[in-house]
Amino acid sequence: PNKAKKGTTKQVEDGTNVEGEEKEDKAAQSLLNKMIHTSLVNTTNQVEVLQRDPNSPLYSVKTFEELRLKDKLLKGVYDMGFNRPSKIQENALPMMLAEPPQNLIAQSQSGTGKTAAFVLAMLSHVDPTNKWAQCLCIAPTYELALQTGKVIEQMGKFYPEVKLAYAIRGNKLDRGAKLQEQIVIGTPGTVLDWCSKLKIINPKKISVFVLDEADVMIATQGHQDQSIRIQRMLPKECQMLLFSATFEDSVWKFAERVVPDPNIIKLKREEETLDTIKQYYVLCSDKEEKFTALCNIYGAITIAQAMIFCHTRRTAGWLAAELTKEGHVVALLSGEMTVEQRAAIIERFREGKEKVLVTTNVCSRGIDVEQVSVVINFDLPMDKYGNADNETYLHRIGRTGRFGKRGLAVNMIDSKHSMNILNQIEEHFNKKINKLDTDDLDEIE
Ligand code: ADP
Repeated sequence: PNKAKKGTTKQVEDGTNVEGEEKEDKAAQSLLNKMIHTSLVNTTNQVEVLQRDPNSPLYSVKTFEELRLKDKLLKGVYDMGFNRPSKIQENALPMMLAEPPQNLIAQSQSGTGKTAAFVLAMLSHVDPTNKWAQCLCIAPTYELALQTGKVIEQMGKFYPEVKLAYAIRGNKLDRGAKLQEQIVIGTPGTVLDWCSKLKIINPKKISVFVLDEADVMIATQGHQDQSIRIQRMLPKECQMLLFSATFEDSVWKFAERVVPDPNIIKLKREEETLDTIKQYYVLCSDKEEKFTALCNIYGAITIAQAMIFCHTRRTAGWLAAELTKEGHVVALLSGEMTVEQRAAIIERFREGKEKVLVTTNVCSRGIDVEQVSVVINFDLPMDKYGNADNETYLHRIGRTGRFGKRGLAVNMIDSKHSMNILNQIEEHFNKKINKLDTDDLDEIE
């Protein structure tokens, strides 16, 4: 099973390519999150609003009616099962629908209602009697563009006069052909071609520009440049809207370049804590012993649902196979799977069809499976320099106050190096991690 395919270079041999996996995975992660978030993510945190003009009144809405949407749109919103605006929508919608138009930079984690918000804004701004492109939305990948397109189609279901065009690879139009559709969703390369080289879109007639998933967008330098070139072709009075799930400095710098005079809306993630978690470590001499130890505690961990984290795809694949040989039923989430396959596996696990999910870190980052109460670090999380990755540790194990069930974490130690990482983690969180004797498991029950 561990045969390395020829020509795939060092692919999954060890930790060395984890970074490459990570890059390719950022867009996939985002798509995965969209696919598994079939309802709003709960949050108790407050929205932070920074207005461009602090003296103007701050409007927020508690109902969709207050927005005075066209009936056809309100019908679309209710048909999607939305009863009232999400936290971020309460503030973002009135801002986006204000006259004169206002620019907006908004940041909140996946599943908090950003897409639904800007889709509604685009649909409201369109004049269906005008047969040309008026709203332009760019997304980092083909799949993400399709996903957003679906939301536009769904919300605009009762407003058939408004048409949507996909500016994505494979959608070939002749030079100079004039687009009749009022809304265009696409990837930066194709959109740029349509606006400049092919002149299918007249950028001067665009009145709403949306840049979605800015953090994923800027992970590719080419996309960043293309986005900026598109933005420069738009008229000054065009409304610019930018959305991102995370906000590092680099995203911020980019956002300020493409969105002049912005209002800013931020929604913090729920803080995670280790307070309600019992943490242990198990001392082993190698991978095989870690496997034996895992089998010993298997009965105890499957009382609830467990996730087992490995450093590489290869270890994850090996472990899942070994556990299966022992007669255990496990699910495996691995990097070579398509996003659809991964979404299906997570969905099954969520429904409790499997009790144990084996995964690599990269693969599962950002996925919230709230009911998991046991986490096994078959390998401890580390960065590319081999130091403890505290943030990932917290994210794997920590609980938000809201879902603050008690949890159990077991760390498998098989070398000086991994012991060292464990010590770094103890020190960082200032919490002692106790040794677990897998022959005497009374402790963890
Ligand atoms: P984001 O773009 O921040 O990831 P989405 O707009 O995709 O979030 O919304 C996440 C999920 O919540 C989607 O399934 C969407 O249909 C749903 N949703 C969005 N807004 C609302 C709302 N106001 N009420 C109920 N569900 C909503």
